[in-house]
Amino acid sequence: MYSTLSHLECSRDGSRHDADVVQGTSPLGAPLLARYDLERAAATVTPAEIGTRAPDLWRYHELLPVRDPAHVVTLGEGMTPLLDLPRHGARLGVPGLRMKDEGLVPTGAFKARGAAVGVSRAAELGVAGIAMPTNGNAGAAWACYAARAGLSALIAMPVDAPVITRRECVVSGAELHLVDGLIGDAGRLIAAAVAQRPGVQDTSTLREPYRIEGKKTMGYEIVEQLGWRAPDVILYPTGGGVGIIAIHKALLELQELGWLTGDLPRLVAVQATGCAPIVDAFHAGLDESTPPANAHTVAFGITVPKALGDFLVLDAVRSTGGTAVAVTDEDLLAAQAALARDEGTWVCPEGAACFAAVAQLREAGWLDGSEDVVVLNTGTGLIYPDTVPVDLPVLPKDGAIPAR
Ligand SMILES: *Cc1c(COP(=O)(O)O)cnc(C)c1O
Repeated sequence: MYSTLSHLECSRDGSRHDADVVQGTSPLGAPLLARYDLERAAATVTPAEIGTRAPDLWRYHELLPVRDPAHVVTLGEGMTPLLDLPRHGARLGVPGLRMKDEGLVPTGAFKARGAAVGVSRAAELGVAGIAMPTNGNAGAAWACYAARAGLSALIAMPVDAPVITRRECVVSGAELHLVDGLIGDAGRLIAAAVAQRPGVQDTSTLREPYRIEGKKTMGYEIVEQLGWRAPDVILYPTGGGVGIIAIHKALLELQELGWLTGDLPRLVAVQATGCAPIVDAFHAGLDESTPPANAHTVAFGITVPKALGDFLVLDAVRSTGGTAVAVTDEDLLAAQAALARDEGTWVCPEGAACFAAVAQLREAGWLDGSEDVVVLNTGTGLIYPDTVPVDLPVLPKDGAIPAR
């Protein structure tokens, strides 16, 4: 059996819904979560067998929603490196620091995981096209995978989103609209357009059930790469929250499968001080977030003033004994530069925010330096070239390199 998908479950009231028709949110307007027959999955496949499969996220296909392998739309996503960071870890006083580097997936950001699984399942269920608002990376990924699947793509993004992501949409044939506003404004335009376009599915963050399924494979991979063991702490740059919700879901599924024992890692939601609704709600003891005024940060992928799944992020953080941290743009850019000098890896500003958060948590004593810590770097720095200004004179061709 390729997939053990059984049904969808409302994340608010636990009600069951049919997984084999196109679904959006639950009747309560809440995200729907895919549920599997995990007993059957555990009887069908073992971790050792998974270890022999091709190094992409489809190695976990029993725990993914696509029922027929013929419907898998892939560009080779998944099984990204889990890198040791000895020099940077020593600098931060956290020798057990590692990075899961999502800069190496197709389209350069982890959004490809959600797009691969979401587009595959949409095509399997007979959807003709997808439509979504985005802060750039998700739209780029969904546009590319839609092209691969032969689906149409309608994308709206803020005019301030990374320019390269526009080009990815255009080159793959998507219908792209730039919006003078934030992702929520783009979302309103998309919802109105989708109402006029039969066969087109609104695949906004957490408004369709399968993007989260693609992203949860980050959690499976971390555990598999550590030898079916969890780290002590995972830090995640949180925007819409899909990634952290998904990693939490993956860890719970692995526990239920009996493939992971012991305590779950403490999950840490990291945001930028310019847009930190989840961090504010966490520290205020609230279950839902309030959108900040004038949201702004260089870490554009986490500029999400109001996440539909905020209550699920807060639950993931609280139920694992984690925390929520906000860092300034100045600190995250300094962290990005220090990491690149220490380890030769140019991470995106969102990933860099997590390294700044590690430093902050170590200084505060929340980390004592003995932990195994995994930072999710959600994308490559190449998407955001302007985060590293280069101002150099041009030498005349008969000039000379100054002596030093
Ligand atoms: C979308 C995005 C995020 C935020 O991810 P969520 O799962 O929506 O919280 C972080 N980093 C990058 C690079 C992104 O594109």
